[in-house]
Amino acid sequence: MRISDDAVRLGLLERATLVLNRSWQPIHVTTVRRALCLVFREVARVVSPATLTTYAFEEWMLEPVPPGQLAIRSPSIDIGAPEVILLARYDRVPCHEAPFTRRNLFLRDDFTCQYCGRRCASDHLSVDHVTPRSRGGRTTWENCVLACVGCNSRKADRTLKEAGFRLLRQPTRPRWSPYLNLRPQQRLDSWAKFAPEKRRRVGS
Ligand SMILES: [Zn+2]
Repeated sequence: MRISDDAVRLGLLERATLVLNRSWQPIHVTTVRRALCLVFREVARVVSPATLTTYAFEEWMLEPVPPGQLAIRSPSIDIGAPEVILLARYDRVPCHEAPFTRRNLFLRDDFTCQYCGRRCASDHLSVDHVTPRSRGGRTTWENCVLACVGCNSRKADRTLKEAGFRLLRQPTRPRWSPYLNLRPQQRLDSWAKFAPEKRRRVGS
């Protein structure tokens, strides 16, 4: 399958697709590109969020793309960008913890300075050690927050008390969720019915 430049330009292949395990529980978010590969390899099926019908790759290719829906256009065929896929065999729910990474910290603090509350572009934010490293502060979820350039330089190498700073909220390790690596605006409306808190227990 050749994928047209249009689709690439739209970034459609990099859009998020929700991954459900065999029991219809959301466990992960992947890209449209990888989702189509998994469906092509018969590891997963495309789910229509509206009807909950599932499709193998060939069936999905034949499915007309509903008006208003984004499609990957190739010279010979239009394929709807899957919003949700269902894994054929995997039935567990990952229980790993949120890894401490710079990206996850930005997502936890929602690109917001935890001292003045200003939302900034990532190049105006840095990771601040609440208790400075020079005072034994560790690089952990509980001791690191985002700070804007101004707050970071005002606080410098001082503790909160010394600098007279207060945190907007106590930093904690985020709970794992299938949406951990996503900014809220990347979520699709159609995922709401698969939200973990709404899901019904399937099987035993
Ligand atoms: Zn600030």
